[in-house]
Amino acid sequence: GATIELEALTKRYPGSALPAVESVTLDIRAGETVILVGPSGCGKSTLLKMINRLIEPTGGRIRIGGEDVTDMDPVRLRRTIGYAIQASGLFPHMTVAQNVALVPKMLRWPAARVRARVEEMLDLVGLDPAEFHGRYPRQLSGGQQQRVGVARALAADPPVLLMDEPFGAVDPITRDHLQDELIRLQRELHKTIVFVTHDFDEAIKIGDRIAVLRERSHIAQFDTPEAILTH
Ligand code: ADP
Ligand code: ADP
Repeated sequence: GATIELEALTKRYPGSALPAVESVTLDIRAGETVILVGPSGCGKSTLLKMINRLIEPTGGRIRIGGEDVTDMDPVRLRRTIGYAIQASGLFPHMTVAQNVALVPKMLRWPAARVRARVEEMLDLVGLDPAEFHGRYPRQLSGGQQQRVGVARALAADPPVLLMDEPFGAVDPITRDHLQDELIRLQRELHKTIVFVTHDFDEAIKIGDRIAVLRERSHIAQFDTPEAILTH
């Protein structure tokens, strides 16, 4: 994994009176799972999108592994960060396999390795590759689409995972399995994971530390699940 350092990170959307995210400073250690919890609209998605450079901050800095993300070219960024979101973000005109293969192909992995990796990732998220690889996103349930989204985020084995309610539509048994897989990825492969959820049980289960956010992503508390539960 890599450290993630946010320094006075701020985003004010054009035309908004108040910033969506206001001066957030947060140090995330290499190889830890940090959970962001907080009310709807407090800026969690905005925060993750800024780290992933999908939107420009209006102030502050983001460093991953000590390097300013604005200095990373797009290929390096995709190699470093895996991103999975609630809405799955799959490309509708691409099959499941094409969606999962996206970043490995962009990184010019050999075709055989890409094919093997797509199978491995679909297995990991509990989708039979033979049944699912040729389907289009519209032929999947919401939960299955999310699982493909997670498979895609993990495909190129990035050291950093940004996940925005990635299991919201997944059935409880599969969700439990995916939570265990995420814990394993973090323990064995030392990935740095920033994970947004509304589910407090999920936060307690998978988080090394939990950031409790208020309006404009002000950090009310940043501590271990044990400490959060006793305070
Ligand atoms: P959360 O993920 O915690 O629900 P968001 O980051 O989605 O919060 O939103 C934070 C705030 O920014 C909200 O007030 C939301 O309405 C506003 N917001 C989000 N996206 C945009 C946008 N593209 N333009 C203007 N305001 C936005
Ligand atoms: P859920 O109730 O879990 O949301 P759906 O009712 O959407 O699931 O689908 C049930 C099953 O049928 C799933 O395994 C899904 O992949 C499959 N399925 C749904 N739509 C199609 C389709 N158009 N073509 C092939 N399989 C489909």
